[in-house]
Amino acid sequence: MNDTIPALQAALERAEAAIREKEEAVQAAQASALLLQKTFASLNEAVFIVQTGTRIITDVNKAVETLFGYTVEEIVGRSTSCLHLTEELSVRFGREMIAAYREKGFYETTYQMLRKDGTVFDSEHCVTPIHDNNGEIISHVCVVRDITGRKLSEKQLKQLNDNLELRISQAVEELRQKDAVLASQYKLLIDLAPEAIIVYDTNLDRIVDANAKAEQLFGFSREVLLTSSPLLYYTQTQPDGRPVEASFFENCSRVIAGEVLIIERAIRNASGSETVCEARLVRLPSPHSLLIRASFFDITERAKAQKELTKALAGEHRLNEEQRQFMGLVSHELRTPLSIIDGTAQLLVMTACKDKECFKHAERILSSTKRLTSLIDTCLTEERLCTSGWTPTMQSEDIRSLARNAVAQAQAQADTARHQISYSLDDLPDRYTCDSMLIQVMLNNLLDNAVKYSPEGGAINVHGWCTKRGELFFEVADQGVGIAPDQLDKAFDRFYRIWQIPGIAGAGLGLHIVKRVAELHGGTAWCKSQPGLGSTFTVSLFSNQAS
Ligand code: ADP
Repeated sequence: MNDTIPALQAALERAEAAIREKEEAVQAAQASALLLQKTFASLNEAVFIVQTGTRIITDVNKAVETLFGYTVEEIVGRSTSCLHLTEELSVRFGREMIAAYREKGFYETTYQMLRKDGTVFDSEHCVTPIHDNNGEIISHVCVVRDITGRKLSEKQLKQLNDNLELRISQAVEELRQKDAVLASQYKLLIDLAPEAIIVYDTNLDRIVDANAKAEQLFGFSREVLLTSSPLLYYTQTQPDGRPVEASFFENCSRVIAGEVLIIERAIRNASGSETVCEARLVRLPSPHSLLIRASFFDITERAKAQKELTKALAGEHRLNEEQRQFMGLVSHELRTPLSIIDGTAQLLVMTACKDKECFKHAERILSSTKRLTSLIDTCLTEERLCTSGWTPTMQSEDIRSLARNAVAQAQAQADTARHQISYSLDDLPDRYTCDSMLIQVMLNNLLDNAVKYSPEGGAINVHGWCTKRGELFFEVADQGVGIAPDQLDKAFDRFYRIWQIPGIAGAGLGLHIVKRVAELHGGTAWCKSQPGLGSTFTVSLFSNQAS
């Protein structure tokens, strides 16, 4: 008996513990059922529980009311067929659902559904089966989401896409048409171009396009040209004197590298005649090929004229040289007889002073020999200055004294009542490197002219100055007859004379010598003048050695 009581107590305790455990489990199950119910009720998607076979709706959540317009009471207990558009569609839905269960265990689809008020909307379905303990499907949980908005956006997006595609294809077509117009315009431009044009593909080593002028120039049809290399039409002897093949490939590489070449090419056409052309070579933009566009202008006439001009220039140069040599020779030869005539005339002046007639003639002879001697001196100076290879003797000179001497000489020869010759030479350096003899000749010529071409008299001034960088200037200004603007440059030409005043002698060499002396000293000479008012002749010297 004593043993039985504790055993009963232990059994009682175990039973109580088991009851507590059960109660706790029931409470937990109730709590999770509540949670599930809450979740079920609060879902935004409509949820249906539907019995298998009968398709009777056994439970729904609140969202069904908003989505379908039925109250919970109205819909629970009814068949799902009221939610489908037709009975046929409803049966097909069921068949597809079973097939999907077999394949993946659930069924997902988009589908059009019917509301209570008869309106239709796009929905997304997810249906999951519920099994009993034996694995048989007893019902389905069907979650329905309204996708009208999404469908609409998809539709709009598709429409947008379609519109875009349409616009793109229209734009492409427009471009294609424009391209075709451009291509035909380009073709027309090339075909009607005044020059012969070919396009050479350097990879294929053949011409790939040629215009009508090219057919004319080369004397072959376009079809023939398009099978050959331009090299075929170049003559072996080219204007640059280089082997034709070497220069051809070298030029191609330069053009392909981006250079634009303008060269002379001699072309032999189908009939064997030769044409000299100016060829302009440029690389054509092309993504897949290395193309060179070559245009040819016929310059046969120009080349011929150039050749003739060079020949004529050489001839003139030779004639000039011969003339200069002849003048030099004659001047030399004349010097001796002239000095005899001069000496005899002087003797006559002294001895025949009583015979007035004889004295007059002797004086005439004397003045003529003086003029002739001065002319010969000028010719000889010019000959020396223009002889190639001749160089001036450059030395440091007292340039101020040189200029003063020239002025003094001019003053001595001039009629001081008519010509007042002055100078301002203070701005000259003490010494300057130059050829003193030439500077003297240059200033003499300028002063002689100033006197000679001021027949009415007037002031003559010589001004000299030097810049900091050693450029030295002489300016000789007079108030004489002046020179017309269109004659100013020519006045410095050799043998050029402006026949404005009859009776003034000259050879047209003085200013030529002036300019030559200036040039030999690194400078030049020019003149400003106003007809009737006077002239100012300026020379610049730049021996660069102010000393
Ligand atoms: P020439 O005096 O021997 O004719 P030049 O070469 O010295 O030759 O001068 C060329 C021409 O320039 C002269 O014929 C003359 O008409 C013009 N000329 C030169 N110096 C002057 C000047 N100071 N005033 C006006 N004309 C001048």
